[in-house]
Amino acid sequence: MTIGSEIHSWVTDLFPLCRSITGDGIRESLRYLQRILPEMKIHGVSSGTRVFDWTVPLEWNIKDAFIANEGGERVVDLSQNNLHVVNYSEPIDEWMTFEELDRNLHSLPDQPDAVPYVTSYYRRRWGFCLTHRLRDQLRQEPFRRYHVKIDTTLESGELIYGELILPGSTSREILLSTYLCHPSMANDNLSGPCVQAAVARWLRDFVPDRRMTYRILFLAETIGPLAYLKRHLETLQENLVAGFVLACIGDDRRYSFVASRSGNTTADRVVRHILRHDHPDHDEYSFVDRGSDERQYCSPGVDLPVCTLMRSKFETFPEYHTSKDDLAFVTPSGLEGGYRLVRECLGLIEELGPYRCRTIGEPHLSTRGLYPDFGLRDSWTKVRTMMNLLAYSDGHHDLIDIADLLEIDARELVVVARDLVDHGVLELDLPS
Ligand code: ZN
Repeated sequence: MTIGSEIHSWVTDLFPLCRSITGDGIRESLRYLQRILPEMKIHGVSSGTRVFDWTVPLEWNIKDAFIANEGGERVVDLSQNNLHVVNYSEPIDEWMTFEELDRNLHSLPDQPDAVPYVTSYYRRRWGFCLTHRLRDQLRQEPFRRYHVKIDTTLESGELIYGELILPGSTSREILLSTYLCHPSMANDNLSGPCVQAAVARWLRDFVPDRRMTYRILFLAETIGPLAYLKRHLETLQENLVAGFVLACIGDDRRYSFVASRSGNTTADRVVRHILRHDHPDHDEYSFVDRGSDERQYCSPGVDLPVCTLMRSKFETFPEYHTSKDDLAFVTPSGLEGGYRLVRECLGLIEELGPYRCRTIGEPHLSTRGLYPDFGLRDSWTKVRTMMNLLAYSDGHHDLIDIADLLEIDARELVVVARDLVDHGVLELDLPS
């Protein structure tokens, strides 16, 4: 099985669960990911806890929800699709006319076959989502009244999140963060958690000599990062080199990213460099177009170097927040592409430098066995690259700075830099 097919199988397994920002859906989803990453810890923050300007809401759970006609037929049923209920609906069990019911229905006139995804976390209400076609059909039905039932509970409980720390040889940190609170949609949002789980497993199993410490988070969107920052802001501000929010990263369309608020952090520079070389047709969005958890990580007073990696950007694709964002919209190749993009970014940060030349004046290459014996043109290009790398290794220029000056891919410099470190000519500093 390819890595893309494996990630797609996780998306498929998690798809049916009725997730929300709290409750059993996200709890079961985190437990599923814990089977892939047993070292991941699940932490909770109690309902009612103040986190900066927000309050952790009551825990929401749902057993059943339907609209039935007078003949007892369920015309809208949670068991058919869990997007049918407005997420966080309060309970209701009443008979009402279609006109009364219609005030609490949500559909999309311009996408008549799609069920929209609607939430109401911080305002108590109830509602159903359905296709516009069905809504029009119900309007024509002869029934005078409908039985409307939503069997939910809103009780004191916990906001939970998954946290995996993979220590490196230094305390400098990389943050990977994704949200896991949407029900039954594949790109937004199961692609993020599943790609992130695959990246975490790769770091754990195949990058044992990592320099960076990796902080890997699976949270409810918005309130999750806020609750996490309330506990860990100082540590992150002290140690974070770069962070990436993973969102909508499993479809087959173009790659994109939302830059951090300052737009020029190590995270931005690395993503921009990799995308420019691997996917020149990508889209870059400024922080003005933010929409996911980069909003919290980059807010004033937090100001972490974090940007969001995506394929199709949230809010821009027609399937976004509807039932059309399904298991066919994300593909093994789309997910694998997202996974490889994250790996490339992390791989480059590990080697980024800046580097420092350990000699005063140019080092004498031939006594160190670094000068080619034969005058082949290819060897001369390599020497030239090596000399240029040395010339700019002043403790201030990192590999992206130097690669941009030379108009090459920074990953070409990684092998050369490693060789020079092994020969004692260069010294690696970690990015600040
Ligand atoms: Zn969303």
